[in-house]
Amino acid sequence: MRPTRFASNAGGMLPALCVSLLAAAPAPLLAQAKPAAAKPTPLEASVDRLAKHPAVTASFAALQTENAWTLDQQASICQIPAPPFKEQARAAEYAKRFRELGVQNVRIDKEGNVIGEVRGARPGPTLMLAGHLDTVFPEGTDVRVKREGTKLIAPGIGDDCRGLAVVLAVTKQVITQKIPFSGRLLVVGNVGEEGPGNLRGMRAIFAGPLRDSINMFISIDGTGFGVTNGGVGSNRYRVHYKGPGGHSYGAFGMPNPMHAMGRAIAKIADLEASTTPKVTFNVGIVSGGTSVNSIPFEAIMEIDLRSETAAALAEIDARLQKALREAVVEEKARWPQSKAALTLQIDTMGLRPAGTTPDTSFIVRASLAAARTMNVYAPLTISSTDANVPMNLRIPAVTLDGGGVGRGAHSLDESYDDRNDGYKGPQWVLLAVLGMLGVK
Ligand SMILES: [Zn+2]
Repeated sequence: MRPTRFASNAGGMLPALCVSLLAAAPAPLLAQAKPAAAKPTPLEASVDRLAKHPAVTASFAALQTENAWTLDQQASICQIPAPPFKEQARAAEYAKRFRELGVQNVRIDKEGNVIGEVRGARPGPTLMLAGHLDTVFPEGTDVRVKREGTKLIAPGIGDDCRGLAVVLAVTKQVITQKIPFSGRLLVVGNVGEEGPGNLRGMRAIFAGPLRDSINMFISIDGTGFGVTNGGVGSNRYRVHYKGPGGHSYGAFGMPNPMHAMGRAIAKIADLEASTTPKVTFNVGIVSGGTSVNSIPFEAIMEIDLRSETAAALAEIDARLQKALREAVVEEKARWPQSKAALTLQIDTMGLRPAGTTPDTSFIVRASLAAARTMNVYAPLTISSTDANVPMNLRIPAVTLDGGGVGRGAHSLDESYDDRNDGYKGPQWVLLAVLGMLGVK
């Protein structure tokens, strides 16, 4: 899921197409721009050399010539429904495909995550490469994939069937080309990334036996070439105001739960929110009541708070809680003669931890270096993804896009367009992974 997306800086190179725009660019952009002729850093030079390794060049060629295979993986996985908490059928198929590729020790953990491993040629770090199995779509959604030229259209085709296909494509090359990398690659199809899942798949992995052995984490989620190194945290609540209710005329004069909720919404609407770090609030759903001439016995709303720092999220959360309680006090005070109860119940729908992997970290620099070698522009972005969990634990983590062009994520007309160079997505991910693990 990539709903919140804004560039944090231009830490990577600028795209070749943008060079002609530099003259018109404002000073800060020029300051961040790295001319194409700049001397590569040692890391960039080593990734340049890596791209010339015979096994890597063979993999790059295969990813291009076998691009139809990657797209078939993407489409066929997408046609297996995977609503939140109902990812089992897709998980079983994903595990089967890992086994067919020769991935070792493929298993499905208690939470439902598919986990397998590919051992390198020599000891080294452990990197987890994951795509998420779940979608936002309920059971019964038509998930048949339509093809129009280079475009695939289906709910979930980009988010995250693209990620799942890229993980398979990269895994296939690492195994079939016998790339002599160091360390261990853990390949994963995880559950519970989308809202209702509340990152349950990643929480389970990073609370389980693998936690202490994972040195680096990459989620493939989204399309294009973004590097997400900031994890937006969110707190989500379902809030109920309740009272006895009654006839709108006969029982008039008692606190009205709907009116109390209206007072709360007015307070929420007036909350001040900082822009740096970015803080957001939203009342997304309201419901309740039974008829126009009844004082409702219940009013319900769902609220989403977000920020890229844990401190800012805690601060807006405290102000929200205060507003919710004040609304009860004010609605009761409006009807001092009434003995009718008015209560507030706050259910937690989801708490996503916030976290950041610094721009200067090895994992971010290696991701950008791989993009530089491939001559693609990779912006740094902030979003809410599976990488939030390791980021919050200070384990180096990023979410990389899977190439191509996606449209309409989380909508029924979601599409993924491979255009003429979608294969560059898995090429980039492969090079970044190998740059992080090292190849002899
Ligand atoms: Zn996603």
